[in-house]
Amino acid sequence: MKFHFIGYVGWSEIVEKGIEDEIENFTEMAIEDLQLYLINDGQLQGYLFQCLECGKYCLYADCA
Ligand SMILES: [Zn+2]
Repeated sequence: MKFHFIGYVGWSEIVEKGIEDEIENFTEMAIEDLQLYLINDGQLQGYLFQCLECGKYCLYADCA
């Protein structure tokens, strides 16, 4: 699998892109928690990647 980095995201950026039902969650957090706590430039930062082969989105996160 080849992934390329799309950008820094919070949950609202994911919703803006309309891909909240398409992302593969690699954050080890529940979606309900991501919806509350994943904020761009916040304490829980999201990193969005996309597979170059199938177009699937993958989400990673870490704490500041
Ligand atoms: Zn793929």
